[in-house]
Amino acid sequence: MFLSEPQHMPCNDCGASVARTEREQHMCDVDRRLDFELFQLRGEVDAFDEEFGVYLESPVGRFAAWYATRSRRPLQES
Ligand SMILES: [Zn+2]
Repeated sequence: MFLSEPQHMPCNDCGASVARTEREQHMCDVDRRLDFELFQLRGEVDAFDEEFGVYLESPVGRFAAWYATRSRRPLQES
């Protein structure tokens, strides 16, 4: 028994469903490709806030935050 090959396959770069016969001519939509890449990185994006919070609580992070505050130029009053 043979399984027939699917007529459409997802594009590896943008995730769009592309007909097998149109695969050579397929051009990724820029917005769709960006959404697809962000979707693949969602775990890292979701973890960023927590990791940044942990960093800010560490001795190195506390020093960096203190130094950034200290180094900031005062606001110009008009
Ligand atoms: Zn594509």
